[in-house]
Amino acid sequence: MFSLLFLKILNTLLTYKIQLYMSKIITEKSKKAFAEAQNFIPGGVNSPVRAFGAVGGTPIFIRSGSGCYLTDVDGNKYVDYIGSWGPLILGHADPRIVKRINEAVANGTSYGAPTELEVKLAQLIKEAMPSIEKVRMVNSGTEATMSAIRVARGFTNRDAVIKFEGCYHGHVDSLLVQAGSGATTLGTPNSPGIPQDFVKHTISLPYNDIDAINEVCSKRGKDIACIIIEAVAGNMGVVPPKKNYLEGLREITKKHGIVLIFDEVMTGFRVAHGGVQSLYNIKPDLTTLGKIIGGGLPVGAYGGKKEIMDSISPVGPVYQAGTLSGNPVAMTAGIATLEILKDGKIYTNLEEKAKRLATGMEKVCEDANVPACHTRIGSMLCTFFTDSPVTDYTTAKKCDTKRYAKFFHGMLDRGFYFAPSQFEAVFVSTAHGEKEIDSTIDAFKEVLKSF
Ligand SMILES: *Cc1c(COP(=O)(O)O)cnc(C)c1O
Repeated sequence: MFSLLFLKILNTLLTYKIQLYMSKIITEKSKKAFAEAQNFIPGGVNSPVRAFGAVGGTPIFIRSGSGCYLTDVDGNKYVDYIGSWGPLILGHADPRIVKRINEAVANGTSYGAPTELEVKLAQLIKEAMPSIEKVRMVNSGTEATMSAIRVARGFTNRDAVIKFEGCYHGHVDSLLVQAGSGATTLGTPNSPGIPQDFVKHTISLPYNDIDAINEVCSKRGKDIACIIIEAVAGNMGVVPPKKNYLEGLREITKKHGIVLIFDEVMTGFRVAHGGVQSLYNIKPDLTTLGKIIGGGLPVGAYGGKKEIMDSISPVGPVYQAGTLSGNPVAMTAGIATLEILKDGKIYTNLEEKAKRLATGMEKVCEDANVPACHTRIGSMLCTFFTDSPVTDYTTAKKCDTKRYAKFFHGMLDRGFYFAPSQFEAVFVSTAHGEKEIDSTIDAFKEVLKSF
């Protein structure tokens, strides 16, 4: 009896101590590093969303990552739900990947000549996505979408491009029109530095609205080279396609001879081994990839129908090249990752964990009477702080971003690192355990108390 009571008191004290510690994380070194960084790097960061602009405060500087954890320069440890913005489906520094990278580095880091590694990665991609008959490696998702659009234009001999509001395809000039993520957050959908002439061929339509596409295509179908889409949107938060939307898109593009490009930079090997196209059983003409296929190193790729891809130099006239494209170290990291992912079991496991997190967070919101819209496809999920369903960019923008900022800082203080913007996905990796997921839900419950 006595020992039970004693244990209970001890437990309460410990919990209290942990909470006290958690809510007072010290980030002095990060603050110093950020101040220093701003002297040399615009805004102190190499990609805008990292600066915490949408949520306030100063970014934490990372010292290391391991599994689902990140450690900052002050020594604080966080459960990481950003995963480098999508690539790290196996978590940080997976020993299997690290080993292969180390071996590759010892053989030299770049040759500027073909290797068997490039062929191997291309094979692994094609196996997962049969719509890809040929694939070209590049160094980032941006490069992939930029090149895919050039090929589509060269192949069709047409200029116009359709994209969708809130979809982000990297910082390609002609696609930085109503883009999501960083651009949404900063409120600069049209960036200065992009001449009006560059975007006059870009048509931006609302996502999930098949009538809007039909209308434009029935008038201008013959001018349109391609339609590029995040088939499951992930850069305005996670917004899945409505029923029959993607099927309709496939039908219209076929009818008008328009190249359909699925931008699967985020969703490829993430929502399923074969990406969104396997989930919905649709064959796009071209697919762009990035993130996961680089295993944490900088890689992008675009591929698709042989007849389209063969219009690229040196076979065809459309020029595209890259000094470090197909880099052996990056290829090795990609191969090592895709070889592990080939085992479909991983996706079943990810589905279970992501579902546990999503349903847990949903219940916490319900219990606390906090209005929210929850979306999830596989291990990509999102909690939108809004009382109406989110189906496109207009509805996404209705979210209470101040509330998101409160959520973000509350979670960060307790050791959980979510994206510093409402308009981003939560990524679950194979390295997240039930223990971490359950403690995330508990922390979320705590945070909502202050709402
Ligand atoms: C991240 C992303 C890109 C851009 O990739 P980078 O490697 O950042 O250039 C393009 N499209 C989608 C859908 C993305 O999520």
